Amino acid sequence: MVPTLQVTACPACGLPAEVWDRAVLASTDGPVEHARVRCLDRHVFLLPVAMLADSSTPEPSGGADAGGRSRSRPNATTRRTS
Ligand SMILES: [Zn+2]
Repeated sequence: MVPTLQVTACPACGLPAEVWDRAVLASTDGPVEHARVRCLDRHVFLLPVAMLADSSTPEPSGGADAGGRSRSRPNATTRRTS
């Protein structure tokens, strides 16, 4: 696992916020990946990664079906491996 710094916008104040942790939480639709973000003004949020103000989320409208195992879409992302 390579640690990457992801920056998004704070949902409260709009300042740059750092994604400093991620966790998969159970929900009624199945597991949902959440991100903990902390902004420059020290607001801390735990929110689904789909709600991050960031364009790097490859599937904006996926995961709504009951199976929930269609995670691998080979041509969805432009992923850099260095
Ligand atoms: Zn903030």
